[in-house]
Amino acid sequence: MTARVLVVDDVPANVKLLEARLSAEYFDVATAMNGVEALAICEKAECDIVLLDVMMPDMDGFEVCRRLKSNPVTHHIPVVMVTALDHPSDRVRGLEAGADDFLTKPVSDIALIARVRSLSRLKMMTDELRMRAVTSKEIGIQNPEHEAVADGGRHGRILIVDDRVSSYERLSAMLAEEHTVDVEANPNEALFHAAEGNYDLLIVSLALENHDALRLCSQVRSLDRTRNVPILALSDGEESARMVRGLEIGVNDYLLRPIDKNELAARVRTQIRKKRYTERLRDNVQQSIEMAITDALTGLYNRRYMESHLSTLVEQAAARGKPLTALVLDIDYFKSVNDNHGHDAGDDVLREFATRVRKSIRGIDLACRYGGEEFVIIMPETDMAVATIVAERLRRRIASERFPIQQGASSIEVTISIGIATLDTADDNAAHILKRADQALYRAKRDGRNRVVADAA
Ligand code: GH3
Ligand code: MG
Ligand code: MG
Repeated sequence: MTARVLVVDDVPANVKLLEARLSAEYFDVATAMNGVEALAICEKAECDIVLLDVMMPDMDGFEVCRRLKSNPVTHHIPVVMVTALDHPSDRVRGLEAGADDFLTKPVSDIALIARVRSLSRLKMMTDELRMRAVTSKEIGIQNPEHEAVADGGRHGRILIVDDRVSSYERLSAMLAEEHTVDVEANPNEALFHAAEGNYDLLIVSLALENHDALRLCSQVRSLDRTRNVPILALSDGEESARMVRGLEIGVNDYLLRPIDKNELAARVRTQIRKKRYTERLRDNVQQSIEMAITDALTGLYNRRYMESHLSTLVEQAAARGKPLTALVLDIDYFKSVNDNHGHDAGDDVLREFATRVRKSIRGIDLACRYGGEEFVIIMPETDMAVATIVAERLRRRIASERFPIQQGASSIEVTISIGIATLDTADDNAAHILKRADQALYRAKRDGRNRVVADAA
């Protein structure tokens, strides 16, 4: 999929020029002649990356960038400032407005295309995560967009890989005010060090003695534990070819020596902010997956997950000729717990019950809250005889020790009834097993409760 680039410039000739170059590289190009137009296009999510002129009448590029970066809807769109100004302080102004990068007019083709490619590739990756994460807002997970806008990119953990003492000492001194900085002077240890340290950013000198720094960067990218750590490369000069190569490999940003302290600070903050944002997106996705399959009150699996997973387990067991047994558990007279002690006490009992269940089963067993005060435990590779022992042990564990309620101020006696059924013939299925276990449970209730009954089939 090709990225859509928004070119913003008040001079039509400049727009045309950039448009032509980008189109030649098969980018899809949109244009805007002023800041207001650009903001509107970005809000509608109609572009993947913005090339933004600095000097424009009415609203200048710095202001446009600030607005994009402080809006939760648009903050994740990469912005490259394009300008005739080329003093470190101008770059810093742009970076402080939140720009992801800075290109100087006249813009070299190689630099332009390499930057746009690398930023749009990253954007597409975060888009994928955003798509999954944003939907989880509805189920009450914190919104990573708001946190991202508020994050100043400070207090990061940084590893500097540089073998020149004077250089790394200077870098550490520049960064130590805002961040925690470690140095690795031995390139052969760098990958290991990076993987162990849980860093927010690697700063890698490209001028390592007897060591190919780009190889190190590519190793960082391919290792699971460092894959998502951004890399800021330090280059001694405009080595375009190596820079392009680096961006292709996965270097996130460059800085040219001699290093300007403020530019370094700004680029470092940008990388750290982005890293944390994608991390939050990932956590959010993970959390929403967990929420989709677990029961909120007890932390056990929910019914939907159990039912879909049980079919798989049944098929596996049948195919391998292994036993599989299901327990259906129901708390006795639970309604009276609510009636006599309140709904909160009922919830306490359910939580404590789940805890005791977890303690009584093996890792491969699947425990789920089937509904209200009814639970199901699936035990792979377990026959009826063993499952009956487990069920009896659990029943005793519940009945023999009172359940604390009202923050431990009081306690009550709780008992359960359990019905058991086991995988039968080859054409047995999940629904049938649960049904037989449920019928056994019914007999356990009828025969007086606080007991285990096995399906007779
Ligand atoms: P039996 O011994 O026949 O199982 O009787 P019982 O009272 O346990 O069964 P019944 O199905 O009549 O009542 C179940 C009660 O569980 C009714 C419902 O209010 C309560 N319940 C269901 N879900 C929850 C919950 O999440 N929290 C609390 N506190 N109560 C719940
Ligand atoms: Mg009950
Ligand atoms: Mg019930």
